[in-house]
Amino acid sequence: MLILNKIHCVSSVSEKGFAMKGIIAAPGMALASAFIINEPEINVHKRAVSDVSEELGRLRRALSECSAQIEAIMEDMDGAVDPQTIEILDFQLLLLEDTGFVGDIGNIISGQSSNAEFAVSAASEVYRHKLESITDNDYLRERAADVADLSQRLIAVLSGVNMEVSEPDWPYIAIGRDIALSRIASLDKAKLKGIILEKGGVTSHCAILSRSLGIPCMVEASGILAYAKPGGTVLLDAVTGEVAVGPDDGRVRAYNEYLACETEEKANLEKFIARKSESLDGAEMKVYANITMSGEAESVVRQGGEGVGLFRSELLYMAQAGEPPSEEAQYAEYSKTAKALGGRPLIVRTLDIGGDKQIGYLDIGREDNPFLGYRAIRYCLDHPEIFEPQISAILRAGADGNVCIMFPMITCKKELIEAKQMVKRAGEGLRAKGVPFDHGARAGIMIETPAAALDAAILAKEADFFSIGTNDLSQYLFAADRSNAKLANLNSPFQPALLRIIKKISDAATDAGIEVDICGQAAEVDALVPIWLAMGITNLSVSIPRITAVRKRICGLNKTDCMRMLDMVLCLETADEVERSLKEFAERITTYDNNAV
Ligand code: PEP
Ligand code: MG
Repeated sequence: MLILNKIHCVSSVSEKGFAMKGIIAAPGMALASAFIINEPEINVHKRAVSDVSEELGRLRRALSECSAQIEAIMEDMDGAVDPQTIEILDFQLLLLEDTGFVGDIGNIISGQSSNAEFAVSAASEVYRHKLESITDNDYLRERAADVADLSQRLIAVLSGVNMEVSEPDWPYIAIGRDIALSRIASLDKAKLKGIILEKGGVTSHCAILSRSLGIPCMVEASGILAYAKPGGTVLLDAVTGEVAVGPDDGRVRAYNEYLACETEEKANLEKFIARKSESLDGAEMKVYANITMSGEAESVVRQGGEGVGLFRSELLYMAQAGEPPSEEAQYAEYSKTAKALGGRPLIVRTLDIGGDKQIGYLDIGREDNPFLGYRAIRYCLDHPEIFEPQISAILRAGADGNVCIMFPMITCKKELIEAKQMVKRAGEGLRAKGVPFDHGARAGIMIETPAAALDAAILAKEADFFSIGTNDLSQYLFAADRSNAKLANLNSPFQPALLRIIKKISDAATDAGIEVDICGQAAEVDALVPIWLAMGITNLSVSIPRITAVRKRICGLNKTDCMRMLDMVLCLETADEVERSLKEFAERITTYDNNAV
């Protein structure tokens, strides 16, 4: 999954324009004119109607007109967006046929003899409110906007207001308070260069869609609507997390440099999609991807990913309203992913909730320190009614492909033994029912806690593989909340203590003859790839857009040189020294690379 940088909002005025910070929802840069999208405000008034059945007829016609509009948007997208976006539009289509929602609108019309516009607005408000008041599930809370978006569309149709906006004929950056997904989906992607929202959220529709389209997006850019003028030049820098209205020459120069590098880099990287991921002296280190849903598996293969090293299954649970996804639904999702990977490995991580990922219906309860709390495997071992169906689903998917189980947040041998007993129990259950499953499915663990790292040699005797979760390992090692931007220096992947502990873990795995992967963010940090190769890491699991770049880095390395570098780095004492040395090393290789081409 993409790392979403949290940057505090600070604004500054330069000689030429105005700059503000925001939160990066999709990385990249764009320089284009501002296209301000203010969704039309339609004032809805309650009006008494004399003919209720005529009003119900108007509602029916509006419902089918809305369906037709949404279907047309989906057709225009022509499969060019991710399944999550389709899901959201599907959700709106379903809502238009939902007997509860449509029934509530109808009841208001007939019960209060009111006009359809008012009934739609009142019923939607209740739905929206319910979703917005969900405090412990960002995903569901942000779905409230789907209802609001749909209600706007319905009211516009009823009132005869044209919702279409006239799109500029030139490239633009769409700017709005919180632009509706259906609006973004309907824009011409050849002209849409970036998205800036004054509100939004990293799991909002726009953020989800922009990531899948590869369009840079920033959210919570407060002040943007006050300063950006329609047609005025805006620079969206979703690399450093800044937006500049009327950018100065320095910023424009930086953008042009970025663009030149990006275009060249893209063409350069494509060569590595099909190339074997091995160093110049023949040491292989495969590149897998981290995903959250089956729809991403095709992109993994297209980008040359050799497997999925981390399927974050909790997103399936977070997308559900009142109960966990059934075994059947999970099986369908894992099986679809495994099939799309065509025999490449798929590592499904079992439910990793708690910490910053809360799910209301699982009822973990309020905790003073959720990251140190009742999370992941701790919760699952106490809740076989949740854990067993998930394991059964993973085992069953193993009959359709190459699927492994991975347990998160393991701290000691006892937890691993209990988790493996659950695998055994789930297998016995499936066997008794005659359901096909993978009898030899591999079960590995994430190494994310200092305790697991210290006891890696003990755990390696029980686990089929390790996958190092550097995001959590670093936060627990340094006692530094990974989501606290003020502690970013402590959570630097260049911290020598982190590298030393990873070396210890990988040595334990190598001694025990099991694979050791890295699936945390540090796996895709360019300057660290030589270190991972030198340590003998088996697979790196990275975000999809980084697959080719990491493969390219591996192909340009010489393992013997990297091992010398590793020895040197392990003797350094500060993160700055490590980062400097590794960047110099990378620089030397890049120079060599470029000269060699
Ligand atoms: C990690 O902790 O490094 C990891 C990959 O898992 P997550 O980021 O989902 O906690
Ligand atoms: Mg983790």
